[in-house]
Amino acid sequence: MREILRVQKLGKNHGGYHGETIDLRAVLREIETSAAQLGWSMETFFETGGFKLMALHRQPSSIRNPQSAIRIYISAGIHGDEPAGPLAALKLIQGNRWPENAEIFLLPCLNPIGFTLNTRENPDGIDLNRDYRNAKSAEARAHLAWLERQPKFDLYLCLHEDWESHGFYLYEQNPDNKISLADQMIAAVQPVCPVDQSENIEGRAAHGGIIRPVVTPLDRPDWPEAFYLISHKARQGYTLEAPSDFPLATRVNALVAAVNAATELLVTDGHR
Ligand SMILES: [Zn+2]
Repeated sequence: MREILRVQKLGKNHGGYHGETIDLRAVLREIETSAAQLGWSMETFFETGGFKLMALHRQPSSIRNPQSAIRIYISAGIHGDEPAGPLAALKLIQGNRWPENAEIFLLPCLNPIGFTLNTRENPDGIDLNRDYRNAKSAEARAHLAWLERQPKFDLYLCLHEDWESHGFYLYEQNPDNKISLADQMIAAVQPVCPVDQSENIEGRAAHGGIIRPVVTPLDRPDWPEAFYLISHKARQGYTLEAPSDFPLATRVNALVAAVNAATELLVTDGHR
């Protein structure tokens, strides 16, 4: 018999996120400790308000043929009212389920002070995820400088939450029509978190939790991180949106399931 997922909306979010918050300092400490134990290297590319903006790097475990490494970029915590992202980063590190030839670049929290304030924006009121074209914020400028020093990625994954959504959904950017990972990511999320089946999400056409927006970054002045990534660093990527009106553990599990599915699929022959 098929099990039915029984997770209900909490009904807490009216006009913004009013759910659980996290002790970000403690989460980042745990991320640092776990990453060090599992052999990741760590670079601090910016410091703000006593927080380090960290980039974690995991070499492929099989280094027989470095050219065959598949580079995957994962970022979280650009919006300070979306705690599932940094928690998912921690769980992904501790879960350690990376395909052996995957090279991972993981940025666990891009807006640490936003988390201490439980605000989407940074302390100056800037939505960092609209600041990747002509960056005004010190955080985005430092992140862009770090990105410019990195190789191209085969895939990007940006971890987010949406306080209004009825379930998990994702945005796909795939301008070269590579084999889509979207259906299988949704299938992997379904057993752990409801999927938003709305036909319109955030004003865009959606189908089965997947939005494939037609975007022309050059027409937009206010680039989200994903626009910079698709324009300069990767030719395929996904913005993952966990539904923040559901229990925090459910949202973390949703993001982790989607990331694991994407990384496993990408290293399978034919998905590159
Ligand atoms: Zn977000």
